[in-house]
Amino acid sequence: MTEKNKCKCGLLSCEAVNAKDGDNRFVLKALPYGEDALEPHISGRTLAYHYGKHLAAYIDNLNKLKTGTPFENLPLHEIAAKATGGLFNNAAQTFNHYFYFEALQGNGEGQPGERTRQLLEESFGSVEQFKEQFTQAGATLFGSGWVWLVLADGKLKIEALANAGTPLTAGEYPVLTMDVWEHAYYLDTQNARAKYIEHFWKVVDWAKVEERIACF
Ligand code: MN
Repeated sequence: MTEKNKCKCGLLSCEAVNAKDGDNRFVLKALPYGEDALEPHISGRTLAYHYGKHLAAYIDNLNKLKTGTPFENLPLHEIAAKATGGLFNNAAQTFNHYFYFEALQGNGEGQPGERTRQLLEESFGSVEQFKEQFTQAGATLFGSGWVWLVLADGKLKIEALANAGTPLTAGEYPVLTMDVWEHAYYLDTQNARAKYIEHFWKVVDWAKVEERIACF
């Protein structure tokens, strides 16, 4: 992992994500945009539940489960990388969600930045081929999970991981993720995950992906 300060926790917003209250509890950081900012692609109602209820619950459970363990004072990414069982599930889900929401935006569909485009072309042939493979990985992941774009050995690769799966456990650092748990889209598109994935591409914040890649 990079020693560059900016991405030292695997996220661009390390300090806010690792902020604690007086009782050594992680605190839900503010959503980086308005709850309605991703409409019409992802509704304010979905964000209210997904960020304000689901993510908040993972953080609450993480705080309960880490208390009195050797993980108590570790930063979020280290707990997610090293813990097991329920503590892993809740720490990884907290990291994964912050990572997902950090690279969404509602200012219109964007395009990959220069370095991102170059790496996507080298790794997948073209940006379109990458998007097809990433979409396919999301559509075919059985049950709940996450699709990741990971930078490893100078190449980008796609990983589809079930449940709370996160590249942190393999010592890898991602540059983009897509949540394919039903709670990410059920209020908007019900069972139609493919429709949600179409919407996802409209709200990817490619500038954040470019910034993450610059960390390595
Ligand atoms: Mn989720």
